[in-house]
Amino acid sequence: MQLAFFHPSSFILHPFMKCEILSIGTELTTGQNLDTNSQWLSLRLAEIGIPVQWHTTIADDLDDNIAAFRVATQRAQLVLATGGLGPTLDDLTREVVAKVAGVELVFDEPSFEHIQQLFAKRKRPMPDRNRVQAYLPAGAEVIPNPFGTAPGFCIAIPAACGLAGGSAKPQAAIVFAMPGVPSEMFAMYNEQVKPRLLKLGLGGGVQMQRKINTFGSGESHIEEKLFDLTRRGFVPEVGITASDATISLRIFARAPSLLEAQAQIAPVETTIRERLGKFVFGVDDEELQHAVLRLLDDKRKTLATAESITAGLVAHRLAQVPGASAWLRGGIVAYDNRIKHELLGVPQELLDIHGAVSAPVAEAMAVGCRERLKTDLAVSTTGIAGPSGGTPEKPVGHVYVGLAWNGGVTSMPFSWAGTRVEVQSRTAKMALNAVRLKLLEMT
Ligand code: AMP
Ligand code: MG
Repeated sequence: MQLAFFHPSSFILHPFMKCEILSIGTELTTGQNLDTNSQWLSLRLAEIGIPVQWHTTIADDLDDNIAAFRVATQRAQLVLATGGLGPTLDDLTREVVAKVAGVELVFDEPSFEHIQQLFAKRKRPMPDRNRVQAYLPAGAEVIPNPFGTAPGFCIAIPAACGLAGGSAKPQAAIVFAMPGVPSEMFAMYNEQVKPRLLKLGLGGGVQMQRKINTFGSGESHIEEKLFDLTRRGFVPEVGITASDATISLRIFARAPSLLEAQAQIAPVETTIRERLGKFVFGVDDEELQHAVLRLLDDKRKTLATAESITAGLVAHRLAQVPGASAWLRGGIVAYDNRIKHELLGVPQELLDIHGAVSAPVAEAMAVGCRERLKTDLAVSTTGIAGPSGGTPEKPVGHVYVGLAWNGGVTSMPFSWAGTRVEVQSRTAKMALNAVRLKLLEMT
């Protein structure tokens, strides 16, 4: 194929080339199927140092596809498309790319033979319609598909074709079209597309990401402390994301080598840790339960849980971590007041006077649990998960976490906003965080 004008040197002007992923299919835009191809491709491209700037999802419509491909090939130097290569009338990608490239569709004999062979192998007659799959844009390089009938292809789109009217664009774009079926796309990318990208000298360098996870401080509070790092244009890029009350700082570096990317990230991570102190509990995929178990192990302390509103969620999360059984002794789901009284020894008058959702009851639950399960620490939860059951003094989302240890007991109130499941999940995190902070103080 003619990729001569697409020589890697044309990328010298753009040390960090931009890439767009197009996902094609009405089943995606209607919400029937989730576009997982874009996510998968972005992760693979990051591995070879190609940053993705756009994900675009398009229904099976000719004009909309032409418009989307025009925009993509104008703003990105690399466009990866999936879907729309099937034999049916709604599979338009071949026609769309030919139009955008300003070329005809031409019949590719080897692709047709491959399609025929595939049907012969399956001992089924080939429907006439499958013939369209062998028509590809003139000048395209065919990318064979060993796992399906639809061949993929790759074509360079000259700069002038990018946008009708042609705004100034220094270089061409290259388009890879792949099948939408994930398993076929994975194989085609790994075996055919990735080697071509590397051969073209696209990407290069590495992208590296480090996530610093925090709990217990609000997003705006954290942003205030890190405003100089999160400002636009800071290198490396630092972003804040909140997920289920966990707030994470994402440090994102692009550099020619792994060592240089690490060198960008390390001092920023140190600064973040210094400024946020105890709020930081882990990195990357680590959750609070991992931090708690690591500390239980470090300090050789045992733990038990007494859970009302979270109904076992705290114990469950801890038990998901390998090795939990060494330090997690057990837990009591004390949903009903009778259970709080009979199994945890919460005095009946505390329940009568203060109600189950109260600081004294949270503390009594933790103390009773610790005594009965004979552990170093016990943590308790009580609260109103909603959607009903709230009162003006104790609205939905109002919770207490209790913590008992050798020689002490404490409790902390909090009001979460959210659905029942969110309130439960966040309360479980709050309980794990209370244990974590106490363990940090212990010798
Ligand atoms: P197509 O190549 O457009 O005929 O797509 C074939 C099948 O692949 C669809 O029915 C979807 O189930 C699946 N598919 C297509 N595009 C995607 C995508 N972006 N993410 C996940 N699955 C997809
Ligand atoms: Mg489709």
